[in-house]
Amino acid sequence: MAIFKEQVTLNDGQNIPKLGLGVWQATQEQASIAVREALQHGYQLIDTAAIYENEQGVGRGIQESGVKREDVFVTTKVWNDAHGGEATAIALEQSLERLKLDYVDLYLIHWPVPSTDKYVETWQNLISLKEKGLVRSIGVSNFHEAHLRRLLNETGVTPAINQIEIHPYFQQRPLRAVNQELNIRTQSWSPLAQNKAIEDEVIKTIALKHNKTTAQIIIRWHLQNDLILIPKTVTPTRIKENFDVFNFELDDEDLKRISLLDRGERLGPDPDLFG
Ligand code: NDP
Repeated sequence: MAIFKEQVTLNDGQNIPKLGLGVWQATQEQASIAVREALQHGYQLIDTAAIYENEQGVGRGIQESGVKREDVFVTTKVWNDAHGGEATAIALEQSLERLKLDYVDLYLIHWPVPSTDKYVETWQNLISLKEKGLVRSIGVSNFHEAHLRRLLNETGVTPAINQIEIHPYFQQRPLRAVNQELNIRTQSWSPLAQNKAIEDEVIKTIALKHNKTTAQIIIRWHLQNDLILIPKTVTPTRIKENFDVFNFELDDEDLKRISLLDRGERLGPDPDLFG
């Protein structure tokens, strides 16, 4: 059982670090450098996906960091074109080959793609891959309540994680409550609102009060809301900045002010319609 520095325990008994590095839109080269820097700086969670086309870079970064395999938690995701049948197992095999790993810590269904209606079959595939030891934990991403309940009803196996879009402008309280009720941990993607929230005036005021940056305030907001998060940056100074968040706390008033920033502003596609 892996033990991490700042972690939570999932419903399957595995531990996951609370704060990691995302690498969407990083090139292979950028991903390899960012992952190496992050791991050497103390990060233990890396979030990639087959569709990001940087798994090789991530694998290189892990190797070059010199950090032991068991001290890194690696997430990757099965893309929409590999739902159902043999495709899912083949997709994982290819991801592992690119990552140069013999298992990933977490494998997610990237999107439910209701139009093809193969996410239950894909979930069965993930259950088998876990049984084979190729992945330690399995979960989903961008699943709504109806998708989650269907998985549970038809397979009896609860995802460990639902990774969804969450940031101060799109806080998703109802879906977070569903995740909590079902004992599924919520993980925030685009936690900084793809940097749109960095310039927010309310967050700037809170940042000034704590002598922290706005990114650090937003990251603390996620952590204090029991969210696991994976802010992306390929900038070495920001890699450090985003991790320097375990030495202060937002107070109730700060949290309340940020909770009032919610304006239902989705940056990504609607999961019911995408794919
Ligand atoms: P984020 O909210 O993490 O924002 C990333 C942007 O913010 C980049 O432009 C980055 O710039 C900038 N940034 C990062 N730190 C700072 C800082 N301290 N100060 C100022 N700017 C900063 O957006 P993402 O969309 O990348 O989401 C994070 C991760 O979530 C992704 O990388 C991916 O792993 C995952 N994700 C998952 C999805 C899913 O469907 N499951 C969908 C989207 C994302 P720079 O890199 O230039 O420093």
